[in-house]
Amino acid sequence: MKGLVFTKLNEVKLQEVEKPAIINDTDALVRVTLTSICGSDVHLVQGHLPTTPEYVLGHEYVGVIEKVGSAVKAVKVGQRVAGPAAPYCGQCANCKAGHIEHCMYGGVHGSGPEFGNLPGTHCEYVRVPFADNVLLPIPDDVSDEQALFVGDILSTGFFGAEKGNIKVGDTVVVFGAGPVGLAAIHSARLFSPEKIIAIGYKNTFRLEVSKKLGATHTILSSKEDVLERINELTNGQGADVAIDAAGTESNLQQAVRCVGIGGRVSLVALYGKSASLPLNEICMKNIKIEMGLGYLGHMERLLRMIQTGKIDLSPIITHRMPLSDVEKAFDIFQNRKENVIKVAIKP
Ligand SMILES: [Zn+2]
Ligand SMILES: [Zn+2]
Repeated sequence: MKGLVFTKLNEVKLQEVEKPAIINDTDALVRVTLTSICGSDVHLVQGHLPTTPEYVLGHEYVGVIEKVGSAVKAVKVGQRVAGPAAPYCGQCANCKAGHIEHCMYGGVHGSGPEFGNLPGTHCEYVRVPFADNVLLPIPDDVSDEQALFVGDILSTGFFGAEKGNIKVGDTVVVFGAGPVGLAAIHSARLFSPEKIIAIGYKNTFRLEVSKKLGATHTILSSKEDVLERINELTNGQGADVAIDAAGTESNLQQAVRCVGIGGRVSLVALYGKSASLPLNEICMKNIKIEMGLGYLGHMERLLRMIQTGKIDLSPIITHRMPLSDVEKAFDIFQNRKENVIKVAIKP
């Protein structure tokens, strides 16, 4: 079969790779019907995350079960399923303590030996461990595109909104209108805030999309004074919640500065390096900061919310391409060409 292989730093190639097989009796083999390039794929390829190529990339996918191991009982051959980017066993000490994102036997699909050495999804078939535990049947009235993000960026964006502890009538500021920021905006509105302010740097298209997904106001930080505008929009009170999905030091500092007394700051970005924080301000304003690896345990609920029409992230798919064009797709996504937000790849 064909797969997008991360061959060496800053290089990916569509190559002939071995079709995976069932290894453990709790595995399922899934025929990938859609897979999407994620910001983490780019972080790996550019060397921002510890990694040892070469391997097939990809961890955001939906598919159809082709084969199951002898111990798999809950899911069946032929079912359309969504799976998490990071499968987990559900049995180890960390899983039992609720930290499934730190499963001792799990890992992240398509992210190399440093992340559990699990097969990637930018190909035709993927082996999914702990299938009973992690694969969710997709309801007939939910499309592949609607379900595509539930196991990664939707869960991450929702985690960011939930950790912000948004209350009815709050003002929420979301820094970054990339895929995770947009997922956070879309999730934030489930908590009934009054305002959701999306902050983008200079991409007006992404801010337009943010309005379709729930943002009530947008600010272009390359043209406007972010803190001044937030101050105006909150009558000098500051925001109640800030979510940073942008991952730069300046955004992080603005996220802390834009909230008022008792503000909550939720960080869902990957920061490539250390950053300084205005600790006095955090203390004086009793600001609470939350961060951590995104939680994938809400997938089932999120899928139900998709089915009942309360969540639909599919408008962020700007490009649809066959697997044969995946190298081009990676270039478009990595270099943010053609107003790309997300690319759905069809093997
Ligand atoms: Zn991802
Ligand atoms: Zn575990």
